[in-house]
Amino acid sequence: MTEQRFSRQSVHTIGLIGLGLIAGSFSLALQASRKSRYRFVGYSRKAENREASLARGLVHDVVPSIAELTACCDVIMIAVPMLAMPDVLAELAHHVRPDSIITDAGSVKGSFVAACEAAGLDMRQVVPGHPIAGTEKSGVAAGFAELYRGRRVVLTPHKQTSHQATEVVMDLWQACGAEVDMMAVEQHDRVLAATSHLPHMLAFALVDTLITRESDEQVFRYAAGGFKDFSRIASSDPVMWRDIALANKTAVLDAMRDLQTHFDALIAKIENDDGEAIVQTFANARDRRDDWLESFLNSRQ
Ligand code: NAD
Repeated sequence: MTEQRFSRQSVHTIGLIGLGLIAGSFSLALQASRKSRYRFVGYSRKAENREASLARGLVHDVVPSIAELTACCDVIMIAVPMLAMPDVLAELAHHVRPDSIITDAGSVKGSFVAACEAAGLDMRQVVPGHPIAGTEKSGVAAGFAELYRGRRVVLTPHKQTSHQATEVVMDLWQACGAEVDMMAVEQHDRVLAATSHLPHMLAFALVDTLITRESDEQVFRYAAGGFKDFSRIASSDPVMWRDIALANKTAVLDAMRDLQTHFDALIAKIENDDGEAIVQTFANARDRRDDWLESFLNSRQ
């Protein structure tokens, strides 16, 4: 069969596996888009989540198994925690139609691609993806239509992925209001380890440090704006972040060790009362952060 099996016109039904923040927002954004004409069918492991997503209008229909979802869907979006991906993909591989497109929103791309290959999926129909958007909230109630507006989505097509399939997935994300970039899998995992996974590890470790040093009451009594800003992402889902840390282990550990080196250097500067070096470190960091913030805000106008 040629690549022509994948086309925009043949997408009528979109299946969502995992009905939380990411899949829910994807569906709500597409339903709100002017071009919307899709029917959404959902599957999540827990029956209560399936019922709740129907009630919230995230999907038009739900099914009790991946087998039933694959039978009726032209595009399948997988948005489950990273360590749940291999089982979902193995089940999908038993039933998937040769003309459907499989995509995902997982935060780590190397382990997703490896799980697709291990499941024996035809990589021509797989378009790995990752929306660089999220909140610290999760679950059926967390999704909202504007989540992806003005945000980036990274696609990391496999060397065998069909160009037509990639274009279909790109169109869907653009209809959600997102800007789509292409990246190699390894680059994605390295960049995201530094910019997203490391800050989460740091936020969890910071709060963990504070609560083990002092009584919780003391810490939270005197915590103000800085603590609230810095620790916000420590309210994220622990299972999702355990999965990301383990699925992107090598790159996450590299980023953490790099941070440790910088932290040790800062400790040495403070131990040595090296005020000049401390100011230089802080000023460099402040200037780079201000530059980044300015270009980030400009890009969103
Ligand atoms: P979520 O917890 O809000 O939703 C996940 C859903 O998957 C839940 O409904 C859960 O019940 C379901 N689920 C879990 N295991 C399952 C299984 N084996 N089969 C079927 N359903 C299952 O999580 P989310 O924030 O929507 O994240 C989903 C994916 O998107 C993750 O891989 C995450 O790494 C990625 N992601 C998250 C963010 C973020 O900020 N939350 C951003 C970008 C990408």
